[in-house]
Amino acid sequence: MKKYGFGVDVGGTTVKMGFFETSGKLLDKWEITTNTDDNGKAVLPDIAKSIDNKLAQEGISKAEIEGIGIGVPGPVRNDGVVLNCVNLGWGIINVAEELGRLTGLAVKVGNDANVAALGEMWQGGAKGSKDVIMVTLGTGVGGGIIVDGKIVAGYNGAGGEIGHITVNNDEIEPCNCGQYGCLEQYTSATGIVRMAKRKLAKTQDETSLRKYENITAKDIFDEAKAGDAVALLLVDEVGEILGSTLSNIACVVNPEVIVIGGGVSKAGQILIDTIKKHYQETSFKACRDTRFELASLGNDAGIYGSMNLIINN
Ligand SMILES: [Zn+2]
Repeated sequence: MKKYGFGVDVGGTTVKMGFFETSGKLLDKWEITTNTDDNGKAVLPDIAKSIDNKLAQEGISKAEIEGIGIGVPGPVRNDGVVLNCVNLGWGIINVAEELGRLTGLAVKVGNDANVAALGEMWQGGAKGSKDVIMVTLGTGVGGGIIVDGKIVAGYNGAGGEIGHITVNNDEIEPCNCGQYGCLEQYTSATGIVRMAKRKLAKTQDETSLRKYENITAKDIFDEAKAGDAVALLLVDEVGEILGSTLSNIACVVNPEVIVIGGGVSKAGQILIDTIKKHYQETSFKACRDTRFELASLGNDAGIYGSMNLIINN
């Protein structure tokens, strides 16, 4: 194996770039702006240019580069074809072929959430394991499933879309995806707030949650930590939905570690403990000892995972 490689994480506003040793050591990271004009046609050429500049600056030749791994915000098939990246304006593009042609380097492509899971497996919260589920609790709920060190992308690249597992057949408000009762509607940052508003409208109980004009998921966890009974009940409900859903997924892929990431995971141990409690209540016996860890790479998970793609997937 060659000594260096690039991990690239493409987002709707910035592209995060990482220059790595293939051992996993991050040597340098930087960002470039995502130019979404003209259906994002400049995105890949801009990345190629930035890589060329970096190599010139470091005085390293392409012969020493293993390749480029790239995570993109849309479904990616196993053959490297990206089906639609709405945030970038992309339709159907063979990213591996196109970026390969622009750089003369080997390119591997993955979905951004799946690639983040791979990063946490390689150098983050699940380091040392090869069988990992990662759930990212942010504005939405993202996910990535790693089995034997490889991303489960599936036929259409929709593998790991944990946020859209149906957890409530009686929901009357639609999810962003158009379905009803998705995990994301209850356990994303916005979903937790939605649950809190529903509860506050229903209960007469005294609670410090009523003092917030624009309540956030963080406020709810903070009040739970301070002992507010209604906030504690909400956190327990979030943990129950996540715990039972994860125990169902565990019956399919039997992970060694489940990593919880995203903005909501900043709540820390109270979140992990609550999810784990409910996970164990509903889990199949052989899956009961699954470890739970907080994600540890933050916004760098994508560049680490993309780098791992090129050497491992
Ligand atoms: Zn949905």
